Amino acid sequence: HAKADGRGTFRFFEPDMDEQLQARRALEVDLRKAMTNGEFELYYQPQINIQRSEIGGFEALLRWHHPERGLVPPAEFIPVIEDTGLISPLGDWIIEQACREASTWPGEMRVAVNLSPIQFRNRGLVQSVSNALASSGLPPHRLELEITETVLLQDNEMTVSTLHQLRRLGVRIAMDDFGTGYSSLSYLRSFPFDKIKIDQSFVREMSQRADCLAIVQSVANLGASLGMPTVAEGIETEDQLRQVQAAGCTDAQGYYFGRPKPARELVHTLDALKNKVRVA
Ligand code: C2E
Ligand code: MG
Ligand code: MG
Ligand code: MG
Repeated sequence: HAKADGRGTFRFFEPDMDEQLQARRALEVDLRKAMTNGEFELYYQPQINIQRSEIGGFEALLRWHHPERGLVPPAEFIPVIEDTGLISPLGDWIIEQACREASTWPGEMRVAVNLSPIQFRNRGLVQSVSNALASSGLPPHRLELEITETVLLQDNEMTVSTLHQLRRLGVRIAMDDFGTGYSSLSYLRSFPFDKIKIDQSFVREMSQRADCLAIVQSVANLGASLGMPTVAEGIETEDQLRQVQAAGCTDAQGYYFGRPKPARELVHTLDALKNKVRVA
């Protein structure tokens, strides 16, 4: 079928849409197989307390080892997982795996796990978290759950009530990608978060744009007055680190300290990381 676009020419829509639909179906089939074949893995990226110069913990980031395509970035497949109902079993696996791996880490190091808005529509979320803590033996205060502002966009009352139930388990709740939502400040009013993570887009442009630097400074001040630690995301250079330190951010995360790595590689990088953190 062809459709006139109003200027006397014709454009063909369907082949394109067909291709998209087919690619999407293939991705869905691959994702279902990925679950049963164990193709998912959690990578971990350090989060540094830059006031005390110590490793606060690691954020778990999902990776998919596709048998043909290799490593697929989460932005490409998480939206599909959210649409297909796969997020429920996979989300539970992520929480369990992160707790299990973190329970072997030394000291008080925390693990941060990202939660999708869809997981909040599932009534089993609190139970899943509680089960993961029980079976791994990880003390609840060493688990931090990261949610984005979009979680609070939908069904605010139920979401906030779920957040309170999670908090009662003893876990910490962090606001991720802060500043990118429609009404960032009002989200801070809906729930007393334990931590604010300043979106990396502000950090990235901070050195060229005075407004971005001003936003980072303001959020750091806001966090200080609300008694919430503030994490600067996406720190890639020493200059950026100095700037967010001066701005008053309490924590930092980014390639400067380390890229996300598989759990088994963490122990080999811990000494190098500690040295980097010491001089930070
Ligand atoms: P996020 O939670 O904001 O995670 C931070 C992202 O920034 C990660 O991308 C990380 O690799 C990347 N990053 C860290 N430091 C730097 C840096 O210095 N420079 C740059 N350019 N990037 C940096 P990743 O792993 O591709 O994840 C992207 C997003 O996918 C995450 O954003 C999160 O929203 C989502 N995601 C990842 N893992 C999970 C998961 O297990 N569950 C859910 N629901 N979402 C996840
Ligand atoms: Mg995150
Ligand atoms: Mg983030
Ligand atoms: Mg993000």
